[in-house]
Amino acid sequence: MRNILLVLSGPSGVGKGTIVNYLLEEDKSLVKSVSCTTRAPREGEEDGREYFFISEQEFRNRIMEHDFLEYDEHFGNFYGTPRSFVERQLKDHSVILEIDVVGALNAKRLMPEETVLVMIAPPSMEELEKRLSGRGSESEEDRKARLQRVRYELEQAHLYDYVLVNEESKITKTKILEIIRKEKEKHI
Ligand code: 5GP
Repeated sequence: MRNILLVLSGPSGVGKGTIVNYLLEEDKSLVKSVSCTTRAPREGEEDGREYFFISEQEFRNRIMEHDFLEYDEHFGNFYGTPRSFVERQLKDHSVILEIDVVGALNAKRLMPEETVLVMIAPPSMEELEKRLSGRGSESEEDRKARLQRVRYELEQAHLYDYVLVNEESKITKTKILEIIRKEKEKHI
């Protein structure tokens, strides 16, 4: 069986974080790559768990040192996937990346054989709006920018290997475990 780089994308607020936690709980052989970001931590987020929170200067230094497999800018902040972690872990594990569409397509370009792209879509825009305002961690302006981005992200779904509508996180988790099992058995 091979190890895969499972890339999960989907708009902010769609529930990726919850799904990833379920996946890690259920399949102990999976590891999640923790990205670096220059955005400030949200309430309840911990350095090294959701992200490594670093300064813009440090981020720029690490770009120069080719430390990121891919990186991108969203809403004025940088986000990047640590290259050495992913390459090291892939020797023994399948690795989950929770990143946006641009990053996902870059990962596929850089590691076409290992990368499996899964898009998580909201049941409806109304539902997504409700979830985003429920989170209450962003300003009105930031929330609007994120909602605008949603349409763009969902339009890219046809570039993905799988698209799942997240009605219920536990059901989506089960579907993803099935995708992982199937993909690991493929001979490429
Ligand atoms: P948030 O600020 O809501 O945690 O994330 C904003 C966006 O950045 C999300 O679409 C998320 O998937 C994306 N993101 C998180 N980490 C990375 C990364 O390492 N690379 C890229 N390209 N996007 C990321």
